[in-house]
Amino acid sequence: MIYLDNAATTPPDPLVLETFNDVYATFWANPHSLHRPGERAEQLLAQARAQVAEVLGGSGYRTLFTSGATESNNLALKGIPEFYKARGNHILTTNSEHPSVEQVMVWLEAQGFVVTRLPVGPDGAVTPDQVEEALTADTILVSIMFVNNESGAVNPIGEISRRLANHRALFHVDGVQGVGKLPFSLAETPVDLLSLSAHKFFGLKGSGALLLRERQQLSPQLHGGGQEFELRSGTADVPRAAAFAKALRLATEDLESKLERAKTLNRMLRTGIGDIPDIVCNSPESASPFILNYSLVGIKPETMLQGLSAEEVYIATVSACSSRKAMISPAILALTGDRERAGQTIRISLSHRTTSEEIRRFLDIFNATISKLR
Ligand code: PMP
Repeated sequence: MIYLDNAATTPPDPLVLETFNDVYATFWANPHSLHRPGERAEQLLAQARAQVAEVLGGSGYRTLFTSGATESNNLALKGIPEFYKARGNHILTTNSEHPSVEQVMVWLEAQGFVVTRLPVGPDGAVTPDQVEEALTADTILVSIMFVNNESGAVNPIGEISRRLANHRALFHVDGVQGVGKLPFSLAETPVDLLSLSAHKFFGLKGSGALLLRERQQLSPQLHGGGQEFELRSGTADVPRAAAFAKALRLATEDLESKLERAKTLNRMLRTGIGDIPDIVCNSPESASPFILNYSLVGIKPETMLQGLSAEEVYIATVSACSSRKAMISPAILALTGDRERAGQTIRISLSHRTTSEEIRRFLDIFNATISKLR
C-alpha cells in the first residue's frame, strides 16, 4: 500500500508504543496518590511535561496533557475568553481554521463575543499587518493556525507573535500540522498557548497537549479533582503523557533533513501532477511540503479516491462527506475564491517516511486512474 494521508493521521511509531507499554506496566499508579508508587508516577508525568517544553524550546511554559488537539483548542478558546471577559469581548482569527477552532468561534459568538475572521490571501495565509490592523482595545485573544490542514499554507506566526508582544491580547496557535514537521521553537515564537496532537507525528490517538505560559490563567472546562494545575480535571494518563513526549522528541530529531526530503518529494509530485490536464494545484508554493491539495475537473473526488483505493493507494478528499453529498472545502474556498474548485479537492499528505519510490509508483497509478475515469 501507499499511504499518503498523513495529515489525517500517522501510524504509531513502535518506539512510542514501547514507551507506552513499558510505562503502563510499571507506573500505573495514580500520580495524585500520596504513596510511593503514586509519587513515582507523578515524577514521570513531570518529566514528560518538562521534556515537551524543552523539545519545543520553551522556558516558562507549562504542558497540560489533553485528549487531543480538539480538546486543547476548546480549552484554550473557551477558557481564555471566559477568564478575561471583563477586559474585552473581541476575538481575532482567520477564515481558514480547523473546525475545532471555527466551531468554538461560532459558539463564542452565541455567547456574545465578537469574532473577526481575517480573510487569507492567495497564499492561504494572513499577514502580520492584517492582524495588527484588526486589533482593538477590546481584543482579548488572537487564534491563528500554524499550518493549514487542507492546503498546507503557513501563517507567519513568528512575526505575528512579535507584533502582539506589546498588546494585551493573548496569542493561541493551533500547531497541529506544523510542529514536529517544520522548524518551530517557543523561544523564537513565544505564543501564549499552543495546541498539539500526537497522532499527527507518529504518536497515539487521544493524546494532545496545550502549552501555556506559567503565569497564564484560564477558566477550566472540565471541573473535578483539579488535576493538570487545576486547569483540566481527570486522573492523569501518565503512560500516554510519556508516549507523547517520546513521539515529539522522535519527530523533531533530524527535522531539517526530513524536511529537505519532503521538499524533494513535494517537487516530484508537483512536477508529475503538473503535466496532467484539468487538475489544478491549490497549495501555494510557500506551503508546507507535507501537504498538497488539488482540484480535479471532470472527476468526482470520491470517485478518484475509490479508484486509488482499489490500487491500495490512500489519499484524502477534503470536500466529500459521508452522505456522498459534495461539500465545499472552506479553506480552499477562502484561498481560491472559487466555489467549484473548492468542491473538487483531493489532498495528498506526506510524512518523513514517504519514499521517492512510493511517489514514483503513486504518480503512475494516479495517472492511470485518471485516464480510466475520464
Ligand atoms: N487542528 C488541526 C489543524 C488538525 O489538522 C486537527 C486534526 N485533523 C485537529 C486540530 C484536531 O486534532 P485531534 O484529532 O487531536 O482532535
